[in-house]
Amino acid sequence: MSASLATVSYIGAIILFILSLGGLSNPESSRRGNLYGMIGMAIAVLATVFGPRVSMAGVPWIIAAMVVGGSVGLYAARKVQMTQMPELVALMHSLVGLAACLVGYANYIDPMAALNLSSAEKAIHEIEIYLGILIGAVTFAGSLIAFGKLSGKIGGKPLLLPGRHFLNLLGLLIVIAFGWQFLHAESVSAGMLGLTVMTVIALLFGIHMVMAIGGADMPVVVSMLNSYSGWAAAATGFMLNNDLLIVVGALVGSSGAILSYIMCRAMNRNFFSVIAGGFGGGAPAKKSGGEAQPAGEVVAISAIETAELLREAKNVIIVPGYGMAVAQAQHAVNEITQLLREKGVNVRFGIHPVAGRMPGHMNVLLAEAKVPYDIVMEMDEINAEFPDTDVSIVIGANDIVNPAAQEDPDSPIAGMPVLEVWKAKTSIMMKRSMATGYAGVENPLFYKENNRMLFGDAKKMLEEVLVALKA
Ligand code: NDP
Repeated sequence: MSASLATVSYIGAIILFILSLGGLSNPESSRRGNLYGMIGMAIAVLATVFGPRVSMAGVPWIIAAMVVGGSVGLYAARKVQMTQMPELVALMHSLVGLAACLVGYANYIDPMAALNLSSAEKAIHEIEIYLGILIGAVTFAGSLIAFGKLSGKIGGKPLLLPGRHFLNLLGLLIVIAFGWQFLHAESVSAGMLGLTVMTVIALLFGIHMVMAIGGADMPVVVSMLNSYSGWAAAATGFMLNNDLLIVVGALVGSSGAILSYIMCRAMNRNFFSVIAGGFGGGAPAKKSGGEAQPAGEVVAISAIETAELLREAKNVIIVPGYGMAVAQAQHAVNEITQLLREKGVNVRFGIHPVAGRMPGHMNVLLAEAKVPYDIVMEMDEINAEFPDTDVSIVIGANDIVNPAAQEDPDSPIAGMPVLEVWKAKTSIMMKRSMATGYAGVENPLFYKENNRMLFGDAKKMLEEVLVALKA
C-alpha cells in the first residue's frame, strides 16, 4: 500500500471514530456508533499492517499475534457477564498501559529509532519515551488494582498510608530527577537506569493511587483510567510517529476526562478530592460517633400486595440498580411495564448516572429488554416528578436512593445527588436483605413510614408480581 493511500485510510478512520463517538451519545444511534467504530478500526488495522512502514516479512508475525490476541479477546467478551463488564474494561485499559511501556522500551533500545535525528529531535524523542512509559506504567498498575477492586479480589476500603500525599510528591520529585539523568545519559545502558527507576515509581504510584480510592468513587476512577489509557495511546503515537494513534488516543483521553467530570458532578464530588482518595470505604470520617443510625420500623410487603398497589396507581416510577443486573430481572421489568401501560398507568424509569457498576449500565439492560427509550429518564429529568407519583419501585438499588445523602451531613455520601423515591406516596424497595449497597452506607429509606420492603431476588419477586397482576 502506498504512503498516500495509507494516509487517506487514516483520515477515513479518524472521521469514522468521531462519528462513532457522536453516535454513542444517544441510545437510539448507539448501534450505528458502534458500527462506525468497528469499520474505522478495521480500516486502521489494515492500513497499518499493509502500510509502507511494515515490511512484508513482518506481516505473518503481526497476523499470528492478532489471531492469538483476537481469540483471547473474543473468548473473554463472550464469557463475561454483564455485571463483570467494568472489570473487563479495567483489564483492557491495563493492556493499553502495558503496550505503551513496551513500545517505549523497544523504541529506546532500537538503534534505528533515533538514527539521523538532530540533538533537539533526539531530546524530544526521549521526552516522548519517558512520558509515554510514565503514563503507561501508571495506567497499567492502576487499572490492575481497579480490576482487583471491582472483581472483589481486593477489598473496597481505601488504603490510607500515613503521609500519602508526601509520598506521592516525593515520587514525583524522584521521577523528575531521574528524567534529567535520562535525558543527559551518555549511552543507552546509562539511560536505562533512569528509565527503570521511573517505571518502578510509576507502577508504585498507580497502585497507591487506586488503592487509596474507596468503593463509592470507583466509577470515576474507571473512567479516569480510561482517559489515561487514551493519553498512553497518544504518547505511543508520538513515539511511533503515527498520527492516527495520536488522534485516537486524544479522542479517548479527552472523552474519558469529560466523562470523569460529568460523573464527579453527578456525585457532587470534586475531581481532585476523588483522586486524592480516602472516600467511600464504609468508614465515615466523623468526629462524633459516626453517621446517624436510622430510626423507625421496617415494614415488609408481599408480591401480591405490591401488585395491588400497582393496580391502583396512576403514576409509577421504576428505579433500577445493580441488583437488577445481578438478578437479570430486566425482562420481567419490561413485561410488568407493558402490562401496566396497557392498563393506562403512566410508567417511567429514573436512571442515576452511577446506577449499577458502569456508566450506562442500566440503559443497556433496559434497551436489551426492549423498554421504550422515551420513558427512560435521567435523574435530573425525573426527580421533580416523585411528589406526584403513587408508587416508586426500587429494584436492587441502594446507594443511589439513599436519603442520608440529603438528610445527614455526616454521612460519607452527604451531598451526592440521589433519586428522591421517598417523596412518592409509597416507595417499594426490592432487595434480598437489609444489607448496605456498594458504598457500605446504612440506608434510612428502609425505615421511612411510606416505604415498604419486598424482600427476595428481584427476578423471582417481579415474576410473582407479574402473575398477581395478571390474575
Ligand atoms: P448498590 O450496590 O448501592 O445496591 C445494590 C443493591 O442490590 C444491594 O443493596 C443488594 O442488596 C441488592 N441486590 C443484589 N443482588 C440482588 C438480587 N439478586 N435481587 C435483588 N436485589 C439485589 O447499587 P446502586 O445501583 O444503588 O448504586 C451503585 C453503586 O455502585 C454506587 O455506590 C456507585 O458509586 C457504585 N459504582 C458504580 C459504578 C458505575 O459506573 N455505575 C462503578 C463502580 C461502583 P441485598 O444484598 O440486600 O439484595
